[in-house]
Amino acid sequence: MRGLVFTGNRQVDLREFPDPVPGPDEVVVKMRASGLCGSDLHPYRMDRAQATISGHEPCGEVAALGPGVIGAAVGDRVIIHHYSGCGHCKYCRIGYDQLCVRGHKTYGFGANGGNADFVTVPARTLVCLPDELSFDAGAAIACGTGTAYMALKKLDVSGRDTLAIYGQGPVGLSATLLGKAMGARVVAIDVTPARVEHARRLGADVIVNPSERDPVEAVRQLTQGEGAQATLDCTGNATARAQTVRSARVFGRACFVGEGGTVQLEPSPDIIHRHLTLYGSWTFSSVGLEECARFIVDRQVPLEGLITHRFRLDQAVVGFQEFDKGETGKCVFVM
Ligand SMILES: [Zn+2]
Ligand SMILES: [Zn+2]
Repeated sequence: MRGLVFTGNRQVDLREFPDPVPGPDEVVVKMRASGLCGSDLHPYRMDRAQATISGHEPCGEVAALGPGVIGAAVGDRVIIHHYSGCGHCKYCRIGYDQLCVRGHKTYGFGANGGNADFVTVPARTLVCLPDELSFDAGAAIACGTGTAYMALKKLDVSGRDTLAIYGQGPVGLSATLLGKAMGARVVAIDVTPARVEHARRLGADVIVNPSERDPVEAVRQLTQGEGAQATLDCTGNATARAQTVRSARVFGRACFVGEGGTVQLEPSPDIIHRHLTLYGSWTFSSVGLEECARFIVDRQVPLEGLITHRFRLDQAVVGFQEFDKGETGKCVFVM
């Protein structure tokens, strides 16, 4: 089978790997769609090669069962929760394998991932892809959209809220779509014109480009000077993170999901004296992933509108170059 490897300095290579054979309690999934995620850009840009197959947003159909598998059948349409832990500790038992006390594998980073013809994973990582959703939509849900969903759930977003979202890449755009479906008034913020325009098309009530006006002031103007009830950072950028905190009102809620980097805050004026609740949120549990897919079906969230680019695996060089420019919506490999 073919598998895509990051070979360092923005290069990728589509290589031949042995066809997979499932071990006990494992399944082989025939890949149908595999998403590109902002967190892929770190190994993509790094100056050294990876040994394993990339891709941590896998979606496909079960192709083969190993000995002892229960609860999965050949032909099942599935999203893969892209982590596996021991399966027994308290975090694994609530579906948060990425928090496993005995360590975890991440498919696509250090363990063979979904940018391939097949991927082999424990059966317990599988989440049902509802019939109403495409494989492409499932790939989006498998990391970026699921991450946005869990963050908004932590923020307890509702129709009472103005929700300010910093960053309108694949995660921020997902938060715009989901925030609208949860009833909020959404303020979508990004420095890239193509991305704020995409947010407008996906239903954002107000778009703000911080290179044109101060986003904190813009959010306050929309809220009688108070600030938003809920704010979310999907950038990982220090300035945007501080603005995320400062855009929230007294007793407001703010959440960080953008990875890496730093932030400088003044705890007294920024957090303590404003009774702010500040959340961190790292992807989702397998249960949360399933819930996100169900929400998107039941609320008829137009998730396909998120996807701007589809590539075949043999177009991966161009695919990653395009995604690396930072102006796209969701990009997916389709198999
Ligand atoms: Zn990701
Ligand atoms: Zn565990």
